[in-house]
Amino acid sequence: MIDNQDIERLKSRIRIEDVISKMGFSLTRKGTRHYCLCPFHQDHTPSLIIDTTKNNFYCPVCHTSGDAIRFVMKVDGKSYPDALRFIADIYGIELHEVSSDLSAEQKRQQDFKDMIRSQRETIVSMANENLFTEGNEAHSYLRSRGFNNDTLRLYRVGHFPMLSACGTQKDVLQKSYDAKLLQGRIVFPWYSASNALVGLAGRVIDVRTKGVELKYVNSSEKSGFVKGFNLFGINLAIRSMVKEKKVYVVEGYTDAMAMHQSGIENVVAQCGTALTDTQATILARHADEVVLCLDNDAAGIKAMDMAALKLLPLGVRVEILLAPNGCDPADLLHDKGEDAVLRWSQTETHNLLDICLDRFRQASVLDPYRRRAALNKLISYLALVKDSILCKFYIEKCIEVCPWLKKEEFGME
Ligand SMILES: [Zn+2]
Repeated sequence: MIDNQDIERLKSRIRIEDVISKMGFSLTRKGTRHYCLCPFHQDHTPSLIIDTTKNNFYCPVCHTSGDAIRFVMKVDGKSYPDALRFIADIYGIELHEVSSDLSAEQKRQQDFKDMIRSQRETIVSMANENLFTEGNEAHSYLRSRGFNNDTLRLYRVGHFPMLSACGTQKDVLQKSYDAKLLQGRIVFPWYSASNALVGLAGRVIDVRTKGVELKYVNSSEKSGFVKGFNLFGINLAIRSMVKEKKVYVVEGYTDAMAMHQSGIENVVAQCGTALTDTQATILARHADEVVLCLDNDAAGIKAMDMAALKLLPLGVRVEILLAPNGCDPADLLHDKGEDAVLRWSQTETHNLLDICLDRFRQASVLDPYRRRAALNKLISYLALVKDSILCKFYIEKCIEVCPWLKKEEFGME
């Protein structure tokens, strides 16, 4: 049996057009579609439609359809696991085998996971339905923040009722930790890159609500949800992230939603944690460029620094998008609308190393301590950049500013 996590990982990478062309079919591109000869009937004109946005294929003549895995299974007569192995080879992803004989303990754990997942699915649908009932206060709040219904539906945002109002589901949900935790809160579901529901988070509608200590709560680590292993919104960002080789990382749930609504689909949110090694690896696996959108305050600068130290060694280009004065993308959407969010993200992005170089340039000659600090920062980043040509470029720029600097002082020969 192939490890489920490996399958998820593979599925998040598959682009149907890669698979079909690797199998020797010649594709003609028209917009977001590709066409090729249909292998499932006697085809003389390329009839098979490959839809890159839906990541599937369809033949309008013989009506065969499916995803990349099904395509491989049907064309090569492969079993499901063999089709997965074939595709994994294309992407150079290793699939691990796990034993299919579950011990009693493994079986118990599997049942526990299935139960949690099914409870969460119920919570998400109930919360979603409740949000869209006439006069719902969370809905009015989210609409007043500038979110449209398409965005709320896309992210499957909901408003979970009190348990006492859960009707027929009350008895089942009373045993759920998530359900108890999320009562009366706005619910943000977390999905994996391959769209599996992995955890839930909840926010109070009004932070002044009496008796509420925490603005945000989320599913427990005991139930298998570790925020630091996930990125909010990655399921919706992955296609565009892989296509553009670029991803925006924002602070909160509503920031990601605000960016997405404004036309930036390749956006994920960290949601209150410093970037972890796992998150950095996920980002670097799918994108060459990571744009960190952080608050323009001391905490934001520190978070940026820590994220950069994790991302640079992975060979990604780190860009910084500083929040407009005192507000975040969600505020910007509320105050100035979608165009302003789009314009801001396109014009205010600067390369991390360029920012450091500028600071070094601008630090007054009369303040050698500040100049030294700016140079130190740049050197500490360059030490992590594997590309020696890029390093040399920045070193030359520093020497232009202070011609007496020696290359050796940068720790490079
Ligand atoms: Zn056909």
